[in-house]
Amino acid sequence: MVLPHEPEFEQALHELETSLQPFLATNPQYQKALEIIQVPERVLQFRVTWEDDQGKPQVNRGFRVQYNSALGPYKGGLRLHPTVNLSILKFLGFEQTFKNALTGLSMGGGKGGSDFDPKGKSDNEIRRFCVAFMSELFRHIGQDTDVPAGDIGTGAREIGFLFGAYRRLKNEFTGMLTGKGINWGGSFIRPEATGYGLIYYVEHMIAHACPEYSLDRPSTLVAISGSGNVSQFTALKVIELGATVLSLSDSKGSLISEKGYTKEAIEKIAELKLKGGALEAIVDDLGVGYTYHAGKRPWTLLPQVHIALPGATQNEVSQEEAEALVKAGTRIVAEGSNMGCTEEAIAIFETSRRASRAGVWYAPGKASNCGGVAVSGLEMAQNSQRLAWSTQEVDAKLKSIMAECYQICYTAGSRWSGEKVAEGVAEGEALPSLLAGANVAGF
Ligand code: GLU
Repeated sequence: MVLPHEPEFEQALHELETSLQPFLATNPQYQKALEIIQVPERVLQFRVTWEDDQGKPQVNRGFRVQYNSALGPYKGGLRLHPTVNLSILKFLGFEQTFKNALTGLSMGGGKGGSDFDPKGKSDNEIRRFCVAFMSELFRHIGQDTDVPAGDIGTGAREIGFLFGAYRRLKNEFTGMLTGKGINWGGSFIRPEATGYGLIYYVEHMIAHACPEYSLDRPSTLVAISGSGNVSQFTALKVIELGATVLSLSDSKGSLISEKGYTKEAIEKIAELKLKGGALEAIVDDLGVGYTYHAGKRPWTLLPQVHIALPGATQNEVSQEEAEALVKAGTRIVAEGSNMGCTEEAIAIFETSRRASRAGVWYAPGKASNCGGVAVSGLEMAQNSQRLAWSTQEVDAKLKSIMAECYQICYTAGSRWSGEKVAEGVAEGEALPSLLAGANVAGF
């Protein structure tokens, strides 16, 4: 069958197929399953018409990809960004299916969104868009069918508008969306979950690979990209533990602090981002020690990095940037974003890992950032029981889910990497591929 070219989806599929090869060679009976799961169970596309502040009609494309419901209701976020198209949502829904399996909770995979650009829109325009979007989506979702959540461009405000619209349309109050405000059945720790979970995963990697870079030391240097929900809470957790956050970024440039970001700086950035501001606008306000680099991602700007955490969007680490990170002495790269590294960048990291125990150890987003959807799963569980767990209870559950996820990736990676270590590295000495581990364990 001749299919349209879908570059992001093809990239995600190629990465998966490649790393499953050693497993499939021994278990050929699963070959057909691989063919089946790459086709989404259902793809919904719809028109969203809404009215702008001038009273003029506007139109966008709405999507929901219901990828796989083998393990539970479809589950995954809604992305609102002008680049959104079917290739991007298929790659995200496909990855989500594996990610959700890695949480050990009962959730299938899905993703949706629109090419609507929330930047520069008023609160009222965003509300009218969300109501119009839900006026079609409500037919296809439900607490036991498909449970959307946030993603890029969809935060607590948008989830609130969407939840209100669903409640009116269906006349029911159920947990058919996650990431809700606390008063609407949301869970404690959900806003923090992706960033905190990423750090909990990374702590296991550090303990195994490079305890000298533990996060309670200011000498441990952490580079982060992005400045949205994921990166803000990643940075806050790193600062709380005691290591140094060197960078954040947005689509226009990077903000570097060689001495390390303060908690107050992150809080100011969170406020700015809520209003749709750019990092460039805040440099003077942050005072000395912060430098802005227009049009650049952080990876090539730092002479020394121990831990790199891409947290912005897909393909945000290129081959050259991966090489720069290797040169900067990076030991761990773990994605807060989905498919943050290009295939070329992953090849650089994986070669480095195979060559030496002191090389770069790479963790794919479907494993390292599964904390967000994991707490969404916990929100669903609380909603079904009509009760609320405390911050401490949810945080403890998140920690144990991340520990379990790390363990299964490590074990499956040790068994199914199918690789020979580089000459000079004794058998069993190189660290296992967490990419192969995540893909085999999620499969
Ligand atoms: N968008 C997030 C992700 O990529 C969260 C999805 C959810 O909570 O359903 O995993």
